[in-house]
Amino acid sequence: MLLQKLQQFLYGRYGSDKLSLFLLVVGLLFSLLGRLFFWPLFLIADVLYFYALFRILSRNIPARQREYSAFLKVWNPIEGWLRLQKRKWKERGQYKYFKCPSCRQRLRAPRGRGKIQVTCQRCKTVFLKKT
Ligand SMILES: [Zn+2]
Repeated sequence: MLLQKLQQFLYGRYGSDKLSLFLLVVGLLFSLLGRLFFWPLFLIADVLYFYALFRILSRNIPARQREYSAFLKVWNPIEGWLRLQKRKWKERGQYKYFKCPSCRQRLRAPRGRGKIQVTCQRCKTVFLKKT
């Protein structure tokens, strides 16, 4: 009975996505900062929570999808960069990361091989690198 009512209530609504989750996490961060440093930061947290809830329960799905796609345009490069940093940190003992001097392509080479000759796979530039 109650479950059925809940299903009816949620039917046709947008639901959650990465942007809603992001808003909730940032809201949580502001709550924490508000508790530690400056209480008005709670107000920002409340606005973020409210916006996340509004998005999740919204019936205007095309508008939410437009917001989400705009969010992803900004978020995807950041997420990619974070993923690369995580990978660099995980492989820091085995690989050295660097960029091609002419095309800026990201490259990696095994560590401890001394000075090696590197050929960029994208632009075929050859250069020396100490690993
Ligand atoms: Zn290159």
